[in-house]
Amino acid sequence: MDDLVTFRRETRDWLVAHCPPEMRQPSRSEDDICWGGRKAVFSSPAQKAWLNIMAERGWTVPDWPKAYGGGGLSPAETKALREEMAVLGCRNPLMSFGISMLGPALLKYGNEEQKLEHLTKIARGDIRWCQGYSEPNAGSDLASLATKAEDKGDHFLVNGQKVWTSYADKADWIFCLVRTNPADKHNGISFVLFDMASAGVSTRPILLISGNSPFCETFFEDVKVPKANLVGVLNKGWDVAKYLLGHEREMISGMGLRSGARALADIALATRGAEPDGRLDDPILRSRIALFEVRAEAFRAMSERFIDELKAKRAHPAQPSMMKYYGTELNKQRNELIMAAGGSAVLEWESAASNSGAAARNWLRTKANSIEGGTSEVQLNIIAKNILSLPGA
Ligand SMILES: Cc1cc2nc3c(=O)[nH]c(=O)nc-3n(C[C@H](O)[C@H](O)[C@H](O)COP(=O)(O)OP(=O)(O)OC[C@H]3O[C@@H](n4cnc5c(N)ncnc54)[C@H](O)[C@@H]3O)c2cc1C
Repeated sequence: MDDLVTFRRETRDWLVAHCPPEMRQPSRSEDDICWGGRKAVFSSPAQKAWLNIMAERGWTVPDWPKAYGGGGLSPAETKALREEMAVLGCRNPLMSFGISMLGPALLKYGNEEQKLEHLTKIARGDIRWCQGYSEPNAGSDLASLATKAEDKGDHFLVNGQKVWTSYADKADWIFCLVRTNPADKHNGISFVLFDMASAGVSTRPILLISGNSPFCETFFEDVKVPKANLVGVLNKGWDVAKYLLGHEREMISGMGLRSGARALADIALATRGAEPDGRLDDPILRSRIALFEVRAEAFRAMSERFIDELKAKRAHPAQPSMMKYYGTELNKQRNELIMAAGGSAVLEWESAASNSGAAARNWLRTKANSIEGGTSEVQLNIIAKNILSLPGA
């Protein structure tokens, strides 16, 4: 216990000394998020410096083993670090599907060479990953996927198409589900890794209502994937896929927390003003915001408990579905309230006052929260079946 108190104090001192002041301000836009990768674009020298110094300490992935670029921290130390970062307003130094999705799957299913090769590069932000799961005819029913990988001796030959591949055009490598046995739906899928610069890989961005193109159609034409890039056992990729999905849902549920974001009450006070006693001068909006904040607080407490149970390996396997469902609903509610509280300026699509429609674009983007990573209906089915044991679910 004393050790943890000391660790917390030293961590706070270190963060105060090393986190650049710009990295202690809330993010202003998508550009403020650091994704790393070969094509990394840093929004400021401070963003780059913050990534490098945190990676050097292993604190981009504090709970991973040091041998793989992590910090080797215990669950309690990791939690203390996150809490101290939140108190000081330190930004996450690296956002990465490698950290939140592939890393945990490699730690469980990867061999030693794969861990040493890929985890260390993920931890440093050297390689940016994308996820090749969904296909035009395989979304909620993911195991229907048809992208095929033929055994060619020392390599697989991959042909097919993925869709909704987030940031495929910016990613360096892909973790991909492929069909290696057409005769068995679930036991005919394998989990492979390959470089997006391989011959035969192409991407076509899909434009969204928000005006952004965060994802792509991804095509594979005779792509050679070395057999060494198979993760786990041939035809048993579905186990890896499901394990990774749990971590993906946990990551997405974090949208419900949005720590560091500007408080809703502050946004509303700026447009509506305050009553003499300081309360927001709009009782209906005030009560909507209060209700939201109570729900957000309850979600925060539930997340804490969930993460503790997960680290202690006591989490119910369907818990990520519960968190994903509620976290994304909350994020959608938050963005509805930002639009309600922001005054007429937030409706302007292209103006300085609206920061080029940033709030409206975010609001539109959140509509996809309850689809990505598995739809809300699918999460509710999982909860009904595995947590509530409802009949016929
Ligand atoms: C922003 C965003 C980013 C994404 N990023 C990626 C990515 O990086 N990589 C990747 O592989 N995929 C990605 N996806 C794809 C995502 O995983 C799928 O969109 C999702 O799994 C749903 O599949 P689908 O779109 O084919 O919809 P469908 O499965 O066709 O579903 C259509 C509708 O039917 C409902 N439905 C389907 N089955 C059932 C059922 N059994 N019970 C009740 N209702 C049901 C769904 O809830 C939905 O409302 C992304 C999607 C979005 C929106």
